[in-house]
Amino acid sequence: DGGGNVRVVVRVRAFLQRELDRRTRCLIKMDPITQQTTLLAPDEKEAADPKAKTRRIIDDKNFIFDNSFWSHDTKDRHYAEQDDVYNSLGEEFLDHNFEGYHTCIFAYGQTGSGKSYTMMGTPDKPGLIPRTCEDLFERIQAAQNENTNIAYNVRVSYFEVYNEHVRDLLVPTHSGTTPNYLKIRESPTEGPYVKDLTEVPVRNIKEIMRYMKSGDASRTTASTKMNDTSSRSHAVFTIMLRQIHHDMETDETTERSSRIRLVDLAGSERAKSTEATGQRLREGSNINKSLTTLGRVIAALADPKQMRPGKRKDVVPYRDSILTWLLKDSLGGNSKTAMIACIAPSDYDETLSTLRYADQAKRIRTRAVVNQDHIS
Ligand code: ADP
Ligand code: MG
Repeated sequence: DGGGNVRVVVRVRAFLQRELDRRTRCLIKMDPITQQTTLLAPDEKEAADPKAKTRRIIDDKNFIFDNSFWSHDTKDRHYAEQDDVYNSLGEEFLDHNFEGYHTCIFAYGQTGSGKSYTMMGTPDKPGLIPRTCEDLFERIQAAQNENTNIAYNVRVSYFEVYNEHVRDLLVPTHSGTTPNYLKIRESPTEGPYVKDLTEVPVRNIKEIMRYMKSGDASRTTASTKMNDTSSRSHAVFTIMLRQIHHDMETDETTERSSRIRLVDLAGSERAKSTEATGQRLREGSNINKSLTTLGRVIAALADPKQMRPGKRKDVVPYRDSILTWLLKDSLGGNSKTAMIACIAPSDYDETLSTLRYADQAKRIRTRAVVNQDHIS
């Protein structure tokens, strides 16, 4: 039975140079035993907001998540490296993929909180996506060396959602041409999908890394052209794994197919600040629709009791945005799902909002099944 709650973990990054220059105080504490994360109230001075009409109550807040990754201070013996994140989350999710389950891991947090570092990483410190790719092909290689009767088929796709448009990151865009936006369709069996999205077969780690890098480069190029960083786009990297097993004794062939989704979400600060200032209309009303809708979808899934009984499926507003429509299964259906809440060490308001969001996501239950079919 694949019924289970969304796994929620939190990771805090180190100070950046500008924070060190300002001698910022770290507002995060993590207890390695209880996994409790504490957000400390900033000093009076730091909290004072001359524009605020009413005094807010600012105090310490405690949260407990499935895992807390302390990546703030490399000298600390509890420091969480990239491989710690992989070993305690990525590896287990890949186990599930080989069992035939769909999985989804998404990184949530404000811009600069470490989402891309956690998902993609750097050449020296690869993140979850390259580590998953590497482990995947190592396992396939090991199985092939053992002469199991399983044939493996791996395909990959990579797209981004920007301003409610889907853009294929594996199709090179040439400067001067308008990007090719793709449409979404919904199949009764497979659910929502991106029509005409490039899905390339990959045979080894070298090939998959090449596509991963070229897709990443395509994301960066486009966002620079739009005079923006990647902070407004949601990047979805998907690996499709098919295992075709032939049983010599019974002469039966079965196929297991699983989908590995790894998502680097847009910066969460946008959803709030632009709404508050009314910038939204001027910027184009769609810029945050996916992120604000994600918030509503998570809220609806976390507290189904608040909705009318028997109407649950109608009320979760998946179809109100491109991202939530495409991630429908990952959020509330056939998938084992994890959220990595990325936080900066010294931003009380944004961090509190991220931790509350993550706390809500803990209550979401998904219903994953093994995707297995008899072929003959
Ligand atoms: P986001 O994708 O959420 O906007 P990034 O992943 O780009 O944030 O991280 C912002 C900066 O912080 C980058 O320079 C990144 O290298 C650095 N960084 C983030 N997390 C870590 C970490 N755990 N350890 C070291 N550096 C980090
Ligand atoms: Mg990023």
